[in-house]
Amino acid sequence: MKSIRVFLVTVILSIITLFIFVAALKGYQSSMAEANRLFDKQLLDTATLIANLHTEKAVVRFHQHSTIAFQVWRHNELIASSDNAPEIKISSLEPGFGFNNFAGYRWRTVAYYNQLTEDWVLAAERTDLRDALAEEVILEAVWPVLLGLPVLGLLIWLIVSRGLRPLRKFADELGSKQADDLSPLTYHADYQELSQIGHSSNRLLMRLETSLLREKQFASDAAHELRTPISTLKVQLHNAEQNSTTDNKSIQELRDSTNRLGHIVEQILDLYRSSPDQFNANFKRIDLSALAQEMVAQKYPHFEKKNQQVEFSGEPCYLSGDHFALSTLLQNLLSNANKYTPIGSHINVSVHQPEDCIKLTIEDNGPGIPENERESVFQRFYRVGGDRHSTGERGCGLGLAIVKHIVELHDASITVTDSRFETGIAFTVSFPLIRSSGL
Ligand code: ADP
Repeated sequence: MKSIRVFLVTVILSIITLFIFVAALKGYQSSMAEANRLFDKQLLDTATLIANLHTEKAVVRFHQHSTIAFQVWRHNELIASSDNAPEIKISSLEPGFGFNNFAGYRWRTVAYYNQLTEDWVLAAERTDLRDALAEEVILEAVWPVLLGLPVLGLLIWLIVSRGLRPLRKFADELGSKQADDLSPLTYHADYQELSQIGHSSNRLLMRLETSLLREKQFASDAAHELRTPISTLKVQLHNAEQNSTTDNKSIQELRDSTNRLGHIVEQILDLYRSSPDQFNANFKRIDLSALAQEMVAQKYPHFEKKNQQVEFSGEPCYLSGDHFALSTLLQNLLSNANKYTPIGSHINVSVHQPEDCIKLTIEDNGPGIPENERESVFQRFYRVGGDRHSTGERGCGLGLAIVKHIVELHDASITVTDSRFETGIAFTVSFPLIRSSGL
């Protein structure tokens, strides 16, 4: 994957390095020009000095490694020279500077004409001295740059990382959104560069929200509209049953299907009503323990029908909640325990208040739910084993989705674990305690 950070660091570092090298080169060139001027002036001074010494025939012994050589020519006769100079002229007899090769080296030469004595003084200096100086100048200029480049790279890396931080925070804001949270993003507002991506994302979120609302509204409207014909159907079926003289199996099946259809429609309506963004919750101080007992009592005929033992344990536990929503939650969990556990099974309902929350647990010794499906059962229309449920129980897979909505509405959490029986499942809902400033 490409990285903006690596791209920026590489490009910035390359440009800076290029600029530094060009600047160093220019600096080197101008300092070398200046140094050459000085060397040349020194060479000319040397030649002038020699010319003014009224030299007579002489050979001056120089140090073996001397970098300077000279000759004095009078009327085309060499009258004096340093011992490292050749016999032939080391430069043409024309005033000014030049280059020449002798004694195995390259030399910078100067010719100086003394009008009084009519002498030509030819002086020369080895150029390798200047080259050594040039090398030194280049190294002096380039070393600090080479050493500083890693530090500069690190600095640029840190600065670019700092510059990209808003992008990361924006991504965090987007990433931390819950699946159903379509509220607009806000972080980009402070940054010009992020505003376009922020506005586009918000427009997308708005479009999503509108289509989601439309979908929900459609489901709710459709369910609502279906209620009346289903009720009519039920009445007509009842009449047909009354009028039928024989035990009509088809009518019975028709009644079962109509009841199921009615249940699905009611569940869809419940799901819509209980979704946190639709629900106009009326939060009150509620004793969850009393409410659970009430719901168990309401469901009792169903438990009795299957000869199921229901045990309740609990103490008064007050929370801030919506009565209708909490009743629906209890109803769905109890109804599942009743539906999915066999005849004669055990069901425990408990409401307790450990230190930091209120816990409602409904557990049974039925078939349980495989571990890898315990999260999925909260999805809409999900049923373990699909529509052909192993227990043969009818349902539409919406009950636990409704429970989840209600849990979210109360800032609570729900877990699905093994029950304390040998088999079976336990649903535990943890509600937050009422804050002292609350109800
Ligand atoms: P429905 O009961 O209409 O199928 P739910 O959303 O209430 O839909 O439940 C989803 C699935 O979770 C059920 O189909 C069932 O397979 C499983 N389930 C829920 N409660 C229990 C339970 N107490 N024991 C075993 N399975 C359960």
